[in-house]
Amino acid sequence: MLNEIGVNLAKISRRINEAASKSGRDPQDIKLVAVSKNMDVERIRKAMDAGLSLFGENKVQEFTEKYGKIGNEVEWHFVGNLQRNKVKDVVGKVDLIHSLGRMPLAKEINKRAKQKSTVTNVLLQVNISGEESKSGFSLDDVLPSVHSIVESCPHIAVKGLMTIAPLTEDPETVRPVFAELRKLSEVIEGEGFPSVDMDYLSMGMTNDFRIAVEEGANLLRIGRAIFGSR
Ligand SMILES: *Cc1c(COP(=O)(O)O)cnc(C)c1O
Repeated sequence: MLNEIGVNLAKISRRINEAASKSGRDPQDIKLVAVSKNMDVERIRKAMDAGLSLFGENKVQEFTEKYGKIGNEVEWHFVGNLQRNKVKDVVGKVDLIHSLGRMPLAKEINKRAKQKSTVTNVLLQVNISGEESKSGFSLDDVLPSVHSIVESCPHIAVKGLMTIAPLTEDPETVRPVFAELRKLSEVIEGEGFPSVDMDYLSMGMTNDFRIAVEEGANLLRIGRAIFGSR
């Protein structure tokens, strides 16, 4: 029997499959990050029962509480704004940080990863739309920052890019934002840094994941379509 989350998941999978086939992609290449912010452990367990095993959190304290109860039964990604003084609480626990968007944060992640003798996987968050309210590297800063990270942060592994599209009534208007992120990842790939992989394009949320898939997303960060409204 499908629980409510299972029903939601079936709908999402169908929409992902449709968007993937429309753009000639294999839906198997697309991973779903269930953004479980504001959802309690019981709700996350329901989602695990429905087959989900990758969760995204956007607040360190909330992540820490849930991690204390669920631990490594699932994979965790950190998707929200990360303050420097909280970096130590996620390094070594999350499998991927989606939101590295400024160099001081890179230095701190590198430092904490070094202390734990580990390498932390990150995505570079890019503020493609240039909205002031959004964090992330500006388009012009990304490539120089990749150079700096490669040179000065051996405990960071760059695995791709992430962006958050502007909130709009018509998701079609965000298509160029997603296309731009994909182009940027191709440029970085072309630089051929040995320690940088452009494996992941993290883009697409409840409102716009169909378009994101059509534009090449392979990590979708979806909250409300899975769990219902917060
Ligand atoms: C909340 C959040 C999401 C999920 O948003 P939904 O609209 O609920 O799908 C994705 N990414 C980030 C960074 C978020 O904070």
